[in-house]
Amino acid sequence: MAALRKRSKKVAWGVVLALVLAGVFGAGGAGAQVSFGELNAVPACIGGVQTQDCAYGQAELPPAEAVAAEVRHLETVLPAVAALDIPVYTVRQRCSLPGLGMLAGCTLPGQNKVYLFASPRYASYTVGVRKGEANVERFAPYLAAYAVAHEFGHVVRYQLVDNRTLQEYLKLRGAAGADAKGWTCHPEEIFAEDFRWLFGSEKARYIPYLCGIAPPGEKEKAFLLEVLAGE
Ligand SMILES: [Zn+2]
Repeated sequence: MAALRKRSKKVAWGVVLALVLAGVFGAGGAGAQVSFGELNAVPACIGGVQTQDCAYGQAELPPAEAVAAEVRHLETVLPAVAALDIPVYTVRQRCSLPGLGMLAGCTLPGQNKVYLFASPRYASYTVGVRKGEANVERFAPYLAAYAVAHEFGHVVRYQLVDNRTLQEYLKLRGAAGADAKGWTCHPEEIFAEDFRWLFGSEKARYIPYLCGIAPPGEKEKAFLLEVLAGE
C-alpha cells in the first residue's frame, strides 16, 4: 500500500474542479489500451480500512489523464507490464488504515487490479517563486503518477516475481533483514518503491523515495530488467 507522507514543500490547499474521464483510454499503440474505471466506494474486498467522503468532491480524485499517462509510460518501458494489462480503478472515497494514515492506493495479493483512492492532497498545489514570479502548480499529477508506479510495483511482484527471486533481490539491495525495520521497509514496500524509482516517470519520482534506506541504482535496475525480460 502507498501511504501519503507530508511533503516539505509548501502546500496550499485549494479546490479545483477536475475533469475526470471514465472509460477506456487508447494508449497510442495498436490494440494497447489503458483499462480504467471509477468506483463510488471502496470495494468490500479491501478489508480493515476506514472510509471517508470527499470534502472537495471530484478535485480529490487522481486525474484520469495523469493515471493513463503513467500507465502508458510503464507499459512502454516494460513489455512484461504491458502484457499484464493491469486495470486501474479510482475510488471516490478517502481510505485510511489505522496506524498508517490515508492511503494513496492499494492492490490485493492474487489480483492484478490497482485501486487509487481519493485524497484531499489531490486538491492541493505546490507553490514556488521563480525569477520573482509565483509559480503555482497542481500537485495532483505527481501524486497520481507516484501512486500508479508504486502500486504497479506491487502487482509486478505478485504476478511476475517469486519469493526466491525477491529474496535474491533484497540481498543484492543490502536489505535482506528488512522485516524488522517497520512498514516502510517491509520487503514488499521496498520492492514497490524501488519499482517506482527505477521505472516510473519523472513525475512519479517527484515524490521522494519513501523507504528508510538509500534508493536503488543501476545494479538493482539491471537485475529487475533481467527478471522481467524472462517473463
Ligand atoms: Zn505499497
